Amino acid sequence: MTQARFAVSVYASRLDRAAALVADAGLDAVIVTPGPDLQYLIGSRASTFERLTALVLPASGAPFVVAPRMELAALRASALGELDVEVRDWVDGDDPYALALRSLGVVRRFGLSEATPALHSIPLASTADAAPELATPVLRRLRMVKDEAEIDALREAGAAIDRVHARVGEWLRTGRTEREVAADIAAAIVEEGHAEADFVIVGSGPNGADPHHEVSDRVIGAGETVVVDIGGPTDLGYNSDSTRTYATGEVSAGIRDAYAALERAQQAAVDTVRPGVTAESVDAAARRVLRDAGLADRFIHRTGHGIGLSVHEEPYIVAGNATVLEPGMAFSIEPGVYFPGEWGARIEDIVVVTDDGAEPLNRRPHSLTQV
Ligand code: ZN
Ligand code: ZN
Repeated sequence: MTQARFAVSVYASRLDRAAALVADAGLDAVIVTPGPDLQYLIGSRASTFERLTALVLPASGAPFVVAPRMELAALRASALGELDVEVRDWVDGDDPYALALRSLGVVRRFGLSEATPALHSIPLASTADAAPELATPVLRRLRMVKDEAEIDALREAGAAIDRVHARVGEWLRTGRTEREVAADIAAAIVEEGHAEADFVIVGSGPNGADPHHEVSDRVIGAGETVVVDIGGPTDLGYNSDSTRTYATGEVSAGIRDAYAALERAQQAAVDTVRPGVTAESVDAAARRVLRDAGLADRFIHRTGHGIGLSVHEEPYIVAGNATVLEPGMAFSIEPGVYFPGEWGARIEDIVVVTDDGAEPLNRRPHSLTQV
């Protein structure tokens, strides 16, 4: 089955840049097993299992792929089928770890993609006689700054999830359970252009105060806030993730005031985004508004996370992250306020850093939408 992917030149350029970064990092090689990093580099959505499939990026020399012969057809359906990359296949009884490492000579330092299971990392380490390091510092530099094709894919994902939020009023009603509403939303996520619904959070009333709440059989009441945080991958594998907070009828003045501060906090963070500022300063901007509104201790998580082939990836918008923003970085801005036992609210948009600011990929109104 052919999978949706970009033109082969996109992957060829990524492989070239990755190879340069391996040498820069002082590693002898980076080994990438199935997961988002492999999808990024060769467009393959192979999943990992007991037989080793790996892309090997040596510091010098051409990259190559090690794969079980029985998986070759599936791998060739990815961009690998068109890339000028050698494939070294193996059959049961061969030693795939030696096949991955033997042409590299003496390996003193090598990196492994973070999705590599112990099942493969331990035999690779003993074959190389060297402890592996996380290849994350190498690969994140590539994946953190999106190219035009990726930004288009994220725009498409953002528009698709916006269409779902636009329809939430069709299903979110007093008297229904969170689970019933979530099932309708999950179906719409697919209808509106995703390959699947990855997550559907419907947190009504006090459940909205728990950022990790998914759904329950709680019946939604009148005059409540309902946090709806939804997303999934499109056919290209790029994810959407957007939160809006709805209200079933009139809510209290206290809720309205706190929500107004949350809207200002979210906007302040978006307004801070531009090349040259740090990730942590974006977090601080949201936090400052909530602190001034007396809500500092109601905002109990980071302001955002990078997004792309993974729903959560670098850069994290969090205190202590001095990563300097560059055009092409994509991340969520999602402050929330949480009142345990009572209610909660969150507003979440994905933004892309442009040459002089931020392009929001989600465009639904931020106000507390009455349903
Ligand atoms: Zn979310
Ligand atoms: Zn998010």
